[in-house]
Amino acid sequence: MPDHDLVVFSIPLRTRFRGITVREGVLLPGEAGWGEWSPFLEYDDAISRPWLACAREAADEGWPEPLRHRVPVNVTVPATDPEHAHAIVVAGGCRTAKVKVAERGQVLADDLARVEAVRDALGAGGLIRVDANGAWDVDEAVRAIAALDRAAGGLEYVEQPVASVEDLAVVRRRVGVPIAADESIRRAEDPYRVRDLEAADIAVLKVQPLGGVRACLRIAEDIGMPVVVSSAVESSVGIAAGVALAAALPELHHACGLATIQLLTDDVAIEPMLPVDGMLAVTRPELDDDALHRLSAPADRVAHWRQRLASVGQDQPA
Ligand SMILES: [Mg+2]
Repeated sequence: MPDHDLVVFSIPLRTRFRGITVREGVLLPGEAGWGEWSPFLEYDDAISRPWLACAREAADEGWPEPLRHRVPVNVTVPATDPEHAHAIVVAGGCRTAKVKVAERGQVLADDLARVEAVRDALGAGGLIRVDANGAWDVDEAVRAIAALDRAAGGLEYVEQPVASVEDLAVVRRRVGVPIAADESIRRAEDPYRVRDLEAADIAVLKVQPLGGVRACLRIAEDIGMPVVVSSAVESSVGIAAGVALAAALPELHHACGLATIQLLTDDVAIEPMLPVDGMLAVTRPELDDDALHRLSAPADRVAHWRQRLASVGQDQPA
């Protein structure tokens, strides 16, 4: 283990995501291990603070005892052509596929062909969920969900068909397919709003934005709704925190969106958090010194993150 007070990493992405091509973040050491702090660059101090609480929990306290040793994950299919989609699902080896739909510049027929190809690759027993990232309006969503449900031979759920929580609630009342809230949950208070408006059947929870594993366990208990644990495209150190949440949930009904290491070109761990037979092992990855050397951010970025950490951390409640 390197003798650092922190590590700033910079890992190129395989494809552009949220407008970025490099994933940057900080690894913080502590008594319990390493924690990852990787709020997106545009986030201000207030938004970045729960992300730091998640990293400090990982580093200082560690996580509650796991209730399971492996957690199921989904393969993610981008808004690509049917042949490519089919190949991704076969290569992924997962029993659940999340298919991106409603991509700008495409039409519903593209989504239907992709979903049919995914069903063909998964077989009858697999589960298909689609994710529209809030791109439809209410009427489009109602039409598209019915058609996609037919094409898929039944959808597990639709993730964020429309952008606002209010519209989610309207769509949910007009379709038979369960609705999951993702973008509608970005701060700790958001899941309660989704619950109060009865806007979703499933809550997508991410450990960094919501303040850590214990904070998410409390939220999951409070909202009384099934949870899907997803990543914020972290390195294996950050993924391990999401896995710890999935492992500690009293009930886990759905595959998690934690198989995202493949979106990065490299990783900081000796054994990256990659799925085997559609499952991620519940473990804390060991850092790879050679990888840290290879992936360490340039000096100006290290300075940027140190300054940001000082700013966000100064009002950090004990
Ligand atoms: Mg999503």
